[in-house]
Amino acid sequence: MRRCFHLMVIAAFVFMGVTISAAYAQEKAAPPSKKIAVRAGHLIDGRSDKVTDNALILIEGDTITSVSSGGQPPAGVEVLDLSQYTVLPGFMDTHTHVILNGDITAEDYDVQLLKQSIPYRAILGARNARIALEHGFTTLRDLETEGAMYADVDVKTAIANGEVPGPRMQVAARAMTPTGMYPLLGYSWELKVPTGVQYVDGVDGARKAVREQVMYGADWIKYYSDRKYHFEADGVLHSMVNFTDEEAKAIVDESHRLGKRVAAHAIGSDGIAAALRAGVDTIEHGDGLTDALIDEIARKGVYWVPTITVGAYVAPGRGGNWTRMVDLERVAFQKALKKNVKIVFGTDAGGFDWKELNQAKEFEYYVQYGMTPMQAIRSATSMASELLGWKDKVGTIEAGKWADIVAVSGDPLKDISELSRVKFVMKGGVVYKSEMH
Ligand SMILES: [Zn+2]
Repeated sequence: MRRCFHLMVIAAFVFMGVTISAAYAQEKAAPPSKKIAVRAGHLIDGRSDKVTDNALILIEGDTITSVSSGGQPPAGVEVLDLSQYTVLPGFMDTHTHVILNGDITAEDYDVQLLKQSIPYRAILGARNARIALEHGFTTLRDLETEGAMYADVDVKTAIANGEVPGPRMQVAARAMTPTGMYPLLGYSWELKVPTGVQYVDGVDGARKAVREQVMYGADWIKYYSDRKYHFEADGVLHSMVNFTDEEAKAIVDESHRLGKRVAAHAIGSDGIAAALRAGVDTIEHGDGLTDALIDEIARKGVYWVPTITVGAYVAPGRGGNWTRMVDLERVAFQKALKKNVKIVFGTDAGGFDWKELNQAKEFEYYVQYGMTPMQAIRSATSMASELLGWKDKVGTIEAGKWADIVAVSGDPLKDISELSRVKFVMKGGVVYKSEMH
């Protein structure tokens, strides 16, 4: 009877269109009444510029109930002693591919789509999600499955149901380009090969594709604004734009109408300009941002997710313009920082091998490129929560937020690479990693 009622409540949530809340309602989190006190040697809360020493964080169930400087934990409460550690909010990576395992060359990519089944790829996706969590990433925005249809929705659901360990996820499912503008390409026309995205043509086709992806669980709509990146005599990185303006606007308009937001892959200046004209919410990569486009992205309040790690990682393997594009992005980053563009942490993990490289490497680039360590941390915590629309739930260590907490042994403000050596991970009040000495 009780279970029946529970299901009815979930059904009601789904009916009301708040499936994400329903998924969390089902999550096997800490028992609702369990109380934990965390003693933090140094606390970086994700919001303030100041570090609080000897902080006491009280947690009930999956939620932080209070944060204070000093003080004693109430009697009878389990105490986690992190007094020798720096404690931070769980990290958030807003551009990942849990279903992908490196694609430096076109060959790597084709093998995954042609020789691996979608169930096999989903199993690796669950493994990659666990790797991310153990590296301190308690939230991911996963930006398309690269040919694995809606398998990201399944990975997200299995995590939310407590079946496998992993971060909280928002997912983009299949992504979109017009016909013929994304791999797999180059095979005989006699063969029916899988495509890395959903091919979408025309204004009606765009609206239908958005509706379909939302029906099957996409939290975000992603489309590829451009391809074929090349430098021209003006020194600007140009590209070929994929969709007509009418098609791109239809994707954005239909997504917004259904309460979803849109991420655009846009590398060249032409692709970035087209995505901004269409009204997207986030620009992914953005290597070719010109001064005028930086002004526009700042004025419109669009988020920029630079994914520097993947560019630096694949450049040697891909050759061509990729090295020059990495250099160009560094300059754009420094200009965007000065103009207060909302730069949010995103790595493109999956574009590089999850097992070889810790996605926290991205923090190091942001500091090398001119952010303070505190700004870099905020880009992966409070700024990221704003991009995800979860500002009231994650991204800072404050009363009322979910208890997503990580700890490192050194001082990340002195050495940002400390964030690649996370020793403790809690998500929703449950400890997933504890390597304290
Ligand atoms: Zn990507």
